[in-house]
Amino acid sequence: MSLELDRRLADVGTRFRIFPQPRFLQKADGSGPLFPEPELVTVSVEPGGMQAGPGDDRMFVVDAIGKLPYNSFFRPPFRGAARPPVRPGDDGHFDHLDPASREFSAATMYATVRRVLDIWEDYFGRTIQWHFESDFSRLELIPLIEWDNAQSGYGFLEFGFGRKPNGTIDHDRPFCENFDVLAHELGHSIIFAEVGVPASPFDEGIDYGGMHESAGDLVAIVASLHFHSVVDLLLDSTKGNLLTINGLDRVGELSDSREIRVALNSRRMSDVGDEPHDRSLPLTGAIFDTMVEVFQQDLVARKLISDDLRTRSTNLPGTSQDLVEIQAEFTAAYTGNEAAFKDSLLRARDYLGRLLAVTWGNISPDFLTYHGILRALLQADREITGGDNVEIIRACFAWREIAPVPTSLLLRQHTIADCGVSLGKGATVAGGRAVADPRIPGPRVNGVTSAARI
Ligand SMILES: [Zn+2]
Repeated sequence: MSLELDRRLADVGTRFRIFPQPRFLQKADGSGPLFPEPELVTVSVEPGGMQAGPGDDRMFVVDAIGKLPYNSFFRPPFRGAARPPVRPGDDGHFDHLDPASREFSAATMYATVRRVLDIWEDYFGRTIQWHFESDFSRLELIPLIEWDNAQSGYGFLEFGFGRKPNGTIDHDRPFCENFDVLAHELGHSIIFAEVGVPASPFDEGIDYGGMHESAGDLVAIVASLHFHSVVDLLLDSTKGNLLTINGLDRVGELSDSREIRVALNSRRMSDVGDEPHDRSLPLTGAIFDTMVEVFQQDLVARKLISDDLRTRSTNLPGTSQDLVEIQAEFTAAYTGNEAAFKDSLLRARDYLGRLLAVTWGNISPDFLTYHGILRALLQADREITGGDNVEIIRACFAWREIAPVPTSLLLRQHTIADCGVSLGKGATVAGGRAVADPRIPGPRVNGVTSAARI
């Protein structure tokens, strides 16, 4: 979401408080939680449009009592007993709730999903209509069921709790307060809505499955980069040296965050199999790297780092670049220019959000391949920037070994004989057999019919 829209919403929307990252993440020195206070967020719905729950015209919270998880025979809408809906304060906002209360958890679930939807609808430039719209108009959100798991399904998100080491439910770790998990699940809903599902029973959907998990992570990463506290911590700990290769050791305390770990992975296609979460990693890495490269390109354009530093920090690993020296140069460049670095990163974030929205809006789910996604990204960049970043995208995907599958017909060479065009005066080859064809005299180059006819 653009900074301008974010500022506008802050004036007209409804206020909530949510934790940017789970409360159980601790500072490295053990002095306390990494994010001790919830951060103020404003959702796009005005106080006058809010309902108790909380809810609005797109989604609503039901704090169900004694509910079992939905399954294939037990589906929304939930008609059982529920706790009273959470109400706003006298000013119409929900930022008055005590973080220790159950009401806070319920309101957090609504605010997180609503905020992530606001962010992505801005990138799409339109309303994202739910994939279950033929049955329900609103997404049902169930915050705190007695279950050591969470799930998203047709028309609902329902969340339980994490697990203790001894296998019992950990009531200190409600999934509904975990921004990354909620955003990831909403990411699946966005893909169902905007890309759809494969139609053919012969389509194994291997890359489609990897794309789905990657999209969930990217939806969450881009959304979490809307928290000033997350962006500040990320930049302060890396000094802008964000390239994913060997990046995890640079993000310090944030490396306990699942989505940061996923973004800063260095897996290539030859490292992964067909399992969707595993397979998603090279794709997520290639796309996150694209954002980082665009960020660094902007730093160079604004003379905040040298082109030489950018090149050296990119050509890793496998080169003999001095990582310590590179980090020292980033630290020197960042110090005193923190606001400018942040502005560049937020611009790169918004470029990535828009790039993904255009890409997802254009791809078909049928027989989808990572190579097809790469081509859709290149096309999206041409639509958004006129093609300014196509070389960056190509390089990031090449490093991840994302290319046409070796058996792809795209890689088959076509000789002019295959194409049945003229090989000599008045003759063509069709199906390997020379035939006379007076219609194709054709321009000739070095004795061969010109490529323009092939
Ligand atoms: Zn997932």
